[in-house]
Amino acid sequence: MATLWIYPSLLFFLLPSLTPSQALRNYPENEVTLLDTMSALGDLGWEAYPAEGWEEISVMDERNTPMRSYQVCNVMEANQNNWLRTRHIPRDGAQRVYIEIKFTLRDCNSLPGVPGTCKETFNMYYYESNNPNLWFIKESQYIKIDTIAADESFTQTDVGDRVMKLNTEVRDISNLSKKGFYLAFQDVGACIALVSLRVFYKKCPLAVLNLAQFPDTVTGGDSALVEVRGSCVNDSEEFEAPRMYCSGDGGWLVPIGRCVCKSGFEENKDHCQRPPSAPENPISILNDTSVTLEWSPPRDSGGRGDVIYSVHCRKCAGDGKTCTPCSTSVHFVPRQFGLSIPKVLITDLLSNTNYSFSIEAVNGVSDLSPTPKQQVIVNITTSQTVNVILKERKSKDSITLAWQGPDRPNGVIVEYEVIYYEKNQRDQNYTVLKTKGHTMTVEGLKPGTTYVFRVRARTDGGYGNYGGEIELETSHEDMLAIGDPNQATILAVSIAGGIVLLIFLVACFVVSGRTYIHPHTYEDPNQAVRDFAKEIDASTIRIERVIGAGEFGEVCSGRLKLPSKREIYVAIKSLKAGYSEKQRRDFLSEASIMGQFDHPNIIRLEGVVTRCKPVMIITEYMENGSLDTFLKKHDGQFTIIQLVGMMRGIASGMKYLSDMGYVHRDLAARNILVNSNLVCKVSDFGLSRVLEDDPEAAYTTRGGKIPIRWTAPEAIAYRKFTSASDVWSYGIVMWEVISYGERPYWEMSNQDVIKAIDEGYRLPAPMDCPLVLHQLMLDCWEKSRGERPKFGNIVNTLDKLIRNPNSLKELANSSVWEDPTTPEFSVTTVDEWLDTINMGQYKDNFATAGYVSLDAILYISLSELSKMGVTLVGHQKKILSSIQSLHAQGTHVQV
Ligand code: AMP
Repeated sequence: MATLWIYPSLLFFLLPSLTPSQALRNYPENEVTLLDTMSALGDLGWEAYPAEGWEEISVMDERNTPMRSYQVCNVMEANQNNWLRTRHIPRDGAQRVYIEIKFTLRDCNSLPGVPGTCKETFNMYYYESNNPNLWFIKESQYIKIDTIAADESFTQTDVGDRVMKLNTEVRDISNLSKKGFYLAFQDVGACIALVSLRVFYKKCPLAVLNLAQFPDTVTGGDSALVEVRGSCVNDSEEFEAPRMYCSGDGGWLVPIGRCVCKSGFEENKDHCQRPPSAPENPISILNDTSVTLEWSPPRDSGGRGDVIYSVHCRKCAGDGKTCTPCSTSVHFVPRQFGLSIPKVLITDLLSNTNYSFSIEAVNGVSDLSPTPKQQVIVNITTSQTVNVILKERKSKDSITLAWQGPDRPNGVIVEYEVIYYEKNQRDQNYTVLKTKGHTMTVEGLKPGTTYVFRVRARTDGGYGNYGGEIELETSHEDMLAIGDPNQATILAVSIAGGIVLLIFLVACFVVSGRTYIHPHTYEDPNQAVRDFAKEIDASTIRIERVIGAGEFGEVCSGRLKLPSKREIYVAIKSLKAGYSEKQRRDFLSEASIMGQFDHPNIIRLEGVVTRCKPVMIITEYMENGSLDTFLKKHDGQFTIIQLVGMMRGIASGMKYLSDMGYVHRDLAARNILVNSNLVCKVSDFGLSRVLEDDPEAAYTTRGGKIPIRWTAPEAIAYRKFTSASDVWSYGIVMWEVISYGERPYWEMSNQDVIKAIDEGYRLPAPMDCPLVLHQLMLDCWEKSRGERPKFGNIVNTLDKLIRNPNSLKELANSSVWEDPTTPEFSVTTVDEWLDTINMGQYKDNFATAGYVSLDAILYISLSELSKMGVTLVGHQKKILSSIQSLHAQGTHVQV
């Protein structure tokens, strides 16, 4: 027979290997399955005719259970008409049923020498009947459902690579009235494998609402609503006849009427459908006067599938207490109410203003419930930026600046503040000037010298943020007069630079804070503390509990109630008794550094207590503690957008620090704190910190103490700490975030890490890491520090990814298994394997479930994992994808 050349290979190439998720049989609670070939144990018993047409085959699924399917591939001969008919499928009272088929289809062009009669479609039919034992149905009796084409066919190359494209199509048939029906598949000359067939109908599941019970109701024939009368639950009586409609897609709609408790009874909510719980894990990504809010769906959907969100906006006074609804000029994209996705962009906010957003989850029964809607609150403060400069005029000893006010100031602008200093001299000396106008001429400057300028606005509401740094050079005509040709070149360069600078400035760039002043530049360190930290009266602090151990004493949480301010939660670091004067200075240096910063991603200093003992530093309280511990505790529980949101926050804080000229030197997840809104803030600013405090820090050959795994090679080698070396550390923090607190370079020794980095080795992408993020990490780990991105670039890149989440879909292919240091090839027991992937806590679960050898775990399914007690989605994902890696390595796999 002409088809023989292709036939024997069918078994091997038409059926894709099903991944666990494809083979997983978890269906929504409102779908009732009438037939599922994936779970059929025995022969499907379908009729195929003629005999050389469809052929039943049995293959193993990922759990090693046999799976029935049919295939046909008579592409070499014209005039094919091959039928395959199911057994009688009882409709179980449903008027409308859905048919979901999964199949693969071979691309005709990819089959060598096939005639033009080769097809790439097949037809699906049905025939209604009360008789479950029909042995013959005439072709003309069938009613056609549809011609089915593949969204994705596959080619020979795909076969070679075992890349099989599995298609899923769903069709429905309506208005069924007989006891059941038969389905038929007609092949007219294609090369198809029908991998699975599922037939189901939808129902509105039993619901109790307004004390009335509505029974499980099968959806209507067409898309018509089915009206259902509810019956009052025990001990209640009709107030108004309760009714609801069951919609075609299995949801309850439009509740009318209600029952009320008989006198002497109270409502017991346990069996009712309920409004959803509050949305969770909100994050805010602030961009000047716009903010993107994102959150996770409520843990409890109230037993319904129709949760939507609304966002309420309130503008708050500085005390945080008095809030009023936002004006209508604030815009919400895509909309404010009835959001179906957990994300909204809010634009046109006032600058330098506190806003409080409440995100509310509601479902179809929320309006019927007397309980207030569950919400989660996000507070933000917008920034207020002055965009310098529209024009500038220079002489040899003066520079004139002009600027624009902020776009939407929060109140009337009282004055502008201009700060300037000689380039590279900011630690020594800077000058602050004030004006009510939009221009200023700064005089008394040195000729031929570059100065850095920044401008910020003050309204009744306080100071806004500084605009970006502007570098301007005074002219050096005197020097030119000497006739030095090099000086002429310098001038030409500086003029060209000036033009470029002007273009750059007109492009209006943004935000940063004051320039950082190193406490050591003060002769009297106590003066630095007085300048940058507010003295707090100890009686306003209430210490509640110990939350950690710092270098100088314990860290506690508690409350701070300043006069005419609302009470806030704070963290309190105290200096233990018996300290030396140097220890006191070092301890307080953290406050005099932190007190210079004002940014939503930098831990905020509330003040210090120095006039009585113990000496204390009071900061805002970060409910979720340090990022590394937090991530380990919530392994696998965040969406990639949430993780990117955290990274974005850290990058934004670091941009601010680098704009201020502050080099952190110990950026690591353990030094990031996380609050209840998942906002990450950079912390740990002590002067002695890198030297003594960090347990990760190790002595280098040059005597300094450095956290090797987080530190750039030039900083390890010759202590070249710069914002570019902070960028290297930031790349490591990204890696820590995506791997949920994994230790960078695992158990490699510090010496091996230094050697490996020098030889060009870089950390591989963690499991499930989007390719773009790993690429960004690799950019941060460029050997040459000039080639690393700046924090501003990183923030922009992450913003783009957040705006376009599709860009995160492509995953980096590598996994921990590609790391040469992980002992993947030497894993021989289940326990070892679990330890390697950091899932050692499940050893007992695996042992109890009988998984004692590595061979046995290769076919574990998701539902088995759940059954044995691995219920966290992140952990399931981690385990299953590691099993896939084992498959990919070919270890012990019998296909
Ligand atoms: P540190 O001395 O800054 O490293 O603080 C020691 C530990 O105290 C940290 O690892 C945190 O767990 C905790 N901690 C410090 N500051 C705060 C804060 N502002 N909010 C919550 N926990 C904090």
